Amino acid sequence: MMIFRGWRWLILAAVAGAAGAFGPGRAGAHDERAFIQPGATGDRIQQQPPDRELRDILRQIDRKRLESTVRMLASFGTRHTLSSQTDPARGIGAATNWIFGELQSLAADSGGRMTVELQSFVQQPGTRIPTPTTITNVIATLRGSTNPERVYVISGHIDSRVTDVLDATADAPGADDDASGVAVVIELARLLSRRQPEATIVFTTVAGEEQGLFGSAFQAATYKAAGADIQGMFSNDIVGSSTAEDGTRDPHTLRLFTEGVPTAETAQQTAIRQAIGGEVDGVSRQLGRFALSVADNEVTDMRIRFVYRRDRYLRASDHVSYLQQGYPAARFTEPHENFAHEHQNTRVENGVQFGDLIDFVDFAYVERVARVNAATLWSLAQGPGTPKNLRILTQALTNDTDLVWTRGAEPDLAGYEVVWRETTDPDWTHVIPVGDVTSVHLAHFSKDNVYFGVRAVDTAGHHSPAAFPTPG
Ligand SMILES: [Zn+2]
Repeated sequence: MMIFRGWRWLILAAVAGAAGAFGPGRAGAHDERAFIQPGATGDRIQQQPPDRELRDILRQIDRKRLESTVRMLASFGTRHTLSSQTDPARGIGAATNWIFGELQSLAADSGGRMTVELQSFVQQPGTRIPTPTTITNVIATLRGSTNPERVYVISGHIDSRVTDVLDATADAPGADDDASGVAVVIELARLLSRRQPEATIVFTTVAGEEQGLFGSAFQAATYKAAGADIQGMFSNDIVGSSTAEDGTRDPHTLRLFTEGVPTAETAQQTAIRQAIGGEVDGVSRQLGRFALSVADNEVTDMRIRFVYRRDRYLRASDHVSYLQQGYPAARFTEPHENFAHEHQNTRVENGVQFGDLIDFVDFAYVERVARVNAATLWSLAQGPGTPKNLRILTQALTNDTDLVWTRGAEPDLAGYEVVWRETTDPDWTHVIPVGDVTSVHLAHFSKDNVYFGVRAVDTAGHHSPAAFPTPG
């Protein structure tokens, strides 16, 4: 595509409302509109580099702790959802109690910012649940310092399985699936609970995943019923190995699955999308683009392979439960799976070792996975929230573009940026700063030809995920 190098953009004026948009507490001070002159297309968009505090966090990720968590979880023999909930040494009950204890001890050092709870409910029988079964999630909530109402969630699943999904007694070490994900969740809880993120971060481990995403489904529905403003959720499921079935290694790649068309899309939203596009611009895709912007760099030492899919063929993970409630959600997983090591009884057949064993986990790889998650979550929680109520005005036929949105409540909010790209580009390519306003007029820049979004920026230069406008 054409790059508009050399073109100058300029905010011509900001009118309506009191002068001086940055004064706190002045009613109406932000009801302002920016005017962008014809031909102004902004600058090429840049990745957001990690700031000093984030670099500090990433340096402190401890590979040995990740490994000891995976070893401890595998030591419970099986963590099958239907296994013993009362045996102190073997089964999902013992594993859940251990995770609860770990997170509680971290909370005790958090200065009161993090609290831990068990979330239990009885799952009624279904094809993979023969009798009513208590399912227990563990939830550690690190309350945001300035915007606690805005929430980001990271999860891994506690439960494991073997070849027969109903076999609750055979050894199911589940080292990769999904002790690796749980280890990442606990390590991030350890590091981030010592800090004071602006928004709330939930570190959760869920059960019943292999039986039908039951724990996360209950959890996401509970958040939705409570009106929780969850602006991003990441499932870490099978994040422990970088080795493919044929033995080749890809130790610096992590897949990120995001859907384009939202699972919870309404009929009205479908009609709008069919009329004006946006198939690759759902809220989860915007969340994924944000992760690419902040976590695919030399500091995490990981390349994010962005996959335009909700999940792999025949599979799903706990992000789907959040998608069903309309929340932005995505899944991290290793680059190439070895299906001899997943959902298999531990055994040797024709000289081939089957089973999800610790021997197959690459802890240097898990460390880099933790870095990607830490960079993403921290950048979300320290930056401003995704702009709300973003509309693109379509009352009349024009070759201009008008965008309006609601101002966020962050104390350190600096303003907004319009992002845009050709409709055929996979990610935002250009950014136009528009200042601390709640609407913008882009003269002679037709909404018919490109996709527009709006993101928020704080005084430290952190940006939010982009919002994609609805016509109105
Ligand atoms: Zn799994």
